[in-house]
Amino acid sequence: MGDTSCIFCKIARGELGTPFVYQDADVVAFRDLHPQAPTHVLVIPRRHVDSLAASTAADDVLLGKVLAGVRATADQLGLVQSGYRTVLNTGAGAGQSVLHLHAHLLAGRTLAWPPG
Ligand code: 5GP
Ligand code: ZN
Repeated sequence: MGDTSCIFCKIARGELGTPFVYQDADVVAFRDLHPQAPTHVLVIPRRHVDSLAASTAADDVLLGKVLAGVRATADQLGLVQSGYRTVLNTGAGAGQSVLHLHAHLLAGRTLAWPPG
């Protein structure tokens, strides 16, 4: 998957005008088009990586930046007190539909465990 055809690369470059709820040098965060909770934000690396499974040790710093981006986004949205869930779907069988690594940040309702 190249950067030119990837929808999340386009979003990260600002080409679709998607508002960012958080951004820094490495990641951007924006609201999911089909929210599954009152707060449903996607945190993605600016640099394209297909998935967690496709990442390598060379991406480990970036993977940490994605989690740090989730933390910063949750701080900014005031979710620390209530708690929040972070999900990375990896592979079609786990529900990954966009092949650009992304962390789901979900909050604002009771989240059941185990997940479906
Ligand atoms: P996945 O199913 O791959 O774990 O998550 C992909 C998520 O991206 C889905 O929750 C879907 O609603 C969201 N999504 C897909 N296309 C777009 C888009 O163009 N804009 C936004 N904001 N979200 C999108
Ligand atoms: Zn991409």
